[in-house]
Amino acid sequence: MNCKKCGVKIDKDARFCTSCGTKVSEEPKKASPQQKFGKLIEKLKEHLEFLGYSFEIIPPANEAGKPILLGKHSTEYKLNFWELKEDIILFSIDLSTKTKSSNDLYEFANKANEKYLLARAYIRNGEPVASLKSEAVWIGEYSKERFAVFIDQLRNDVRQLNAIEGFDKLL
Ligand SMILES: [Zn+2]
Repeated sequence: MNCKKCGVKIDKDARFCTSCGTKVSEEPKKASPQQKFGKLIEKLKEHLEFLGYSFEIIPPANEAGKPILLGKHSTEYKLNFWELKEDIILFSIDLSTKTKSSNDLYEFANKANEKYLLARAYIRNGEPVASLKSEAVWIGEYSKERFAVFIDQLRNDVRQLNAIEGFDKLL
């Protein structure tokens, strides 16, 4: 690097310019994407723990995989964070059903979507049973206040499921 005042080349660890004596100001280091990501996870963890969730990071099964982040709660549905980037977080709540996909199941998802304000419900077919997924996307930088409202709304949406006729038979 070069001295800002006289332009002489100086050692990267130098604290003063060897030519003119100007103090080398420390440039604010830009956080790398990994550092930002790590910070985001820390914030989420802290926030979810405050909300009564335990936060679990399950390492990927192989090198190509991504870690799975889970927020577990004793009385609430489990939150999966399956896309977690600096400014986009994809939340999903999976509920395993007792049956394979059927018209009843799709109808149930439609009813859920009528009640949902934030989340979106859909069916994912699997063997031997289908799962009912509720998904919501957070876009933007993490902010404590907005995130609290978001999580609250997401939980509220999913709680609506209980009020839909046939819920007990579905799961
Ligand atoms: Zn200098």
